[in-house]
Amino acid sequence: MTKQDIFDAYSDYIMPTYTKMPHIFVKGKGMRLYDIDGKEYLDFFPGWGVGNVGHCHSSVLSAVRDQVGKLIHLPNNYYHPAQAKLAREIVRNSFDGKVFFSNSGAEANEAAIKLARAYGSKFDTPKYEIITFENAFHGRTLATVTATGQRKYQKGFEPLVEGFKTNLPFNDFSALASAVSDKTVGVLLEVVQGEGGINVAENGFVSSIRRLCDEKKMLLIIDEVQTGLGRTGKMFGYQNYDIKPDMITLAKSLGGGLPIGCMLAKREIADTLQPGMHASTFGGSPIVCKAALGVFKAIIKDKMLGNTQKMSSYLFAELKGLSAKHKSIKEVRGLGLMAGIELNINGKTVVEECIKHGLLINCTHDRVLRLMPALNVTKRQIDLAVRTIDKVLQGVSYAG
Ligand SMILES: *Cc1c(COP(=O)(O)O)cnc(C)c1O
Repeated sequence: MTKQDIFDAYSDYIMPTYTKMPHIFVKGKGMRLYDIDGKEYLDFFPGWGVGNVGHCHSSVLSAVRDQVGKLIHLPNNYYHPAQAKLAREIVRNSFDGKVFFSNSGAEANEAAIKLARAYGSKFDTPKYEIITFENAFHGRTLATVTATGQRKYQKGFEPLVEGFKTNLPFNDFSALASAVSDKTVGVLLEVVQGEGGINVAENGFVSSIRRLCDEKKMLLIIDEVQTGLGRTGKMFGYQNYDIKPDMITLAKSLGGGLPIGCMLAKREIADTLQPGMHASTFGGSPIVCKAALGVFKAIIKDKMLGNTQKMSSYLFAELKGLSAKHKSIKEVRGLGLMAGIELNINGKTVVEECIKHGLLINCTHDRVLRLMPALNVTKRQIDLAVRTIDKVLQGVSYAG
């Protein structure tokens, strides 16, 4: 197929649900992506948050290669050692509980919502309502797009799912406290909002929510789909705070590029889901569990948490320098290697110009450049990325 054939086949045969950029990539290795002409790119947004260990990490490759010739899929009414090992690995790195495996972040959140409702149904006055925040993102299924609360993702798909209170102001505890009722079963929160523009939850906000949840017998559910697996410098984002959640959800980087999602709930809540109540045909298949074990191995063996913390300080110092230099930058914020550069202008051209210079980044919420390099990124790669953004911002006009 020529490049034009590929573009044509997409427009003829694939639903236009994605805003696409005219680049065809065929190979990835670590921090690099290669296009069909062999041009090399530095990838500072690998897989929309999937690439915490970079492209095609050797630990993931060897785990998948080993498994693919033995058994690809196994129904969930049998046992497999890889699923057992992965469940134990997730629990050992977070808190005592039990997991349910799905194939995506939205499905992990669906499972969390269903478990919360099943748990809430046992109260004398049944509780079912879930509270979420302004600029949240929890997925695209009907329940999770309802939880997401953003009109732009909901328009045309009404009626939405009942039982959600959405768009509470982020980092505003008193607003949350007055929204809670005796029907509220849980609070669903990202400790760093990713899609919503890299907004970091404050310590006091998170610990107040924890206290309120304890008081009112509500569940604190942390959506770690983007913040999980080392992204914030800790294995899970909530570990930057002085709290323990009742549930977390994972996906994106968990499978090193393969589709896997996971919902972990505290032991006393987990057994609410009894045989037959929830299921997934593909969830936690041998291959994806092996891949995820490869991801844990890569993060731990290559000391990626330490590197994330070190490179985070370096990256944010560099970005602050950039911000002092460019009027087009309004604010720099983030945690670990989850960085947002809020501009005074639309970020679309900046992203396009960066690609022309061989740097892949993202823009979310129209104006926030999002950088989420692999956790083993080096100083030199950060220098290269920052220099490129510097050069591009010099070229964009800002009449502010
Ligand atoms: C991407 C994302 C999701 C949805 O994950 P999918 O795998 O695309 O369904 C949910 N929550 C957060 C915080 C995300 O970043």
